[in-house]
Amino acid sequence: MNLVIFGPPGAGKGTQSNFIAKKFNLFQLSTGALLRREIDNKTKLGGEILSIINSGNLVSDQIVSELIESFIGNKEFKNKLIFDGYPRNIEQAQNLNNLLQKYDQKIDLAIELSVSLKTIKKRILERQSQEKRADDKEDIAIKRYETYEKNIRPVIDFYKQSNLLKVVKGEASISEINVEISDLIEAIKG
Ligand code: AMP
Repeated sequence: MNLVIFGPPGAGKGTQSNFIAKKFNLFQLSTGALLRREIDNKTKLGGEILSIINSGNLVSDQIVSELIESFIGNKEFKNKLIFDGYPRNIEQAQNLNNLLQKYDQKIDLAIELSVSLKTIKKRILERQSQEKRADDKEDIAIKRYETYEKNIRPVIDFYKQSNLLKVVKGEASISEINVEISDLIEAIKG
């Protein structure tokens, strides 16, 4: 089973993906984490994307696509992927379908974590004090929220039309959301 999980910054994508990965023996593929690793390792790519990430904009589709293809093409992760933070726009959603098809796979479930801007602001400020992510500063976090809102609607429609979309209210507690998502996964596992 492969799934995508998306939601605005601070919605709990990372936390929930991590939980699901452990519970169902899946691999959490966080594009944000992959990109931050490039920055931390001071690679050439890291140098190119630093200012983009820290401005709250999206890194180019091509860069992110290349990063994820190596995981999709890896037999070890076949049908075991949770896409955390990908796709972020309709081009990426279509690209993901094409890449998966190339490796004889598909998406089985798309989870949208829906959370209000008020909650997002509160959570990001909390996270900022713990993780010290440069892009969690309030103005950049709001820019990331706007970037998300601007691009995500066609992605939601894309998965809705394929009958893969499930919306989970991200305002509930972490453990309540854990249960809700687990139930959705159990239901498709049959
Ligand atoms: P995240 O950890 O998912 O909040 O992502 C942090 C930042 O990484 C985003 O604000 C983007 O700048 C970049 N990023 C993560 N995933 C993607 C993606 N799928 N496409 C483009 N940029 C991305």
